[in-house]
Amino acid sequence: MTAAVVVPGPVAGDGGQVVPVAVDGLVKRYGQATALQGISLTVSRAEVHGLIGPNGAGKTSALECLLGLRAADGGTVTVFGMDPWRDRERVFSAVGAYLQEDAGLQRRLRVGEAMRAFATFYRDPEPPDSLLDQLGLTAHRRAAYGDLSGGEKARLHLALALVGRPSLLVLDEPTAGLDPAGRRDVWLLVRRLCAERGLAVLVSTHHLVEAERHCDRVTMLARGAVVLCGRPRELLDAHAFDTYLEVTGGSPPIERFKNVTWSVPRTDGVDVVTASTQAAAAVQRWATRHGGCRVSVRPASLEDLFLARVAERDP
Ligand code: ATP
Repeated sequence: MTAAVVVPGPVAGDGGQVVPVAVDGLVKRYGQATALQGISLTVSRAEVHGLIGPNGAGKTSALECLLGLRAADGGTVTVFGMDPWRDRERVFSAVGAYLQEDAGLQRRLRVGEAMRAFATFYRDPEPPDSLLDQLGLTAHRRAAYGDLSGGEKARLHLALALVGRPSLLVLDEPTAGLDPAGRRDVWLLVRRLCAERGLAVLVSTHHLVEAERHCDRVTMLARGAVVLCGRPRELLDAHAFDTYLEVTGGSPPIERFKNVTWSVPRTDGVDVVTASTQAAAAVQRWATRHGGCRVSVRPASLEDLFLARVAERDP
């Protein structure tokens, strides 16, 4: 599952000028395999920056290099101007992190005890009870860590990552395993901290609807390289040219239409994607001729762009 990495206090004395994260040409290799082939990205203060990409794209490797948990094999990585590998302790003091690995917490340790223990690492910690309340964990304060559900553990790890009032939050799939209300609460909390405290957030996620809604910018990775980077709306305006048709109440014979990029059946119809206005019009005409069948055109989403630019091209 996930682990919280948190150590003392916020960044002091930089006057708010130093960029929280600057990655330039980062290369990471594992033996003969290259996991990151020279990626670059920045994260600003008060920005939620999403790192998205298929399984194995290199997201966790990038986050681990950024936290000084792995050495880079090329390029440069700075966190508030510091090299995370050489200056790990000072970087840790500015960062709250939540990674995909075993939390390392004792199964018998209670939620409240874990929070109080982590709070002692810091000069000016967040009041543990307030964080537990914000993450919906107050009722579990006396529960043993090992008895928590997956989603409750995830929320505890986020609370532990926040207890040191970090200036940068690094989250690896923080909403994985959470129910819809839990996912919404995590994003609302992250956005609020961003707005109120200027917190910089780098977050990897497979939930592209959430990334589109909550990230100021996203970097899309595939096979260790950056495919696209920018604000979700601007990426869609610049790169998503297909028309997305939702056909309900019937399924047109797709094989008869030319220039359909792809189609996916649903329980009550079919989704049709095409870059051709003629094909879109032909689907509309077919629906008109077939009573009870409706076609609606919806705007392209980040998930559509991801499928078109990354997932469909992956072997
Ligand atoms: P996921 O979405 O599945 O979590 P990811 O985008 O986080 O994937 P990484 O975990 O960074 O991807 O892995 C990138 C590549 O590096 C993968 O091919 C993975 O198998 C490989 N890799 C990661 N860690 C190691 C390691 N310690 N030793 C060898 N190969 C590794």
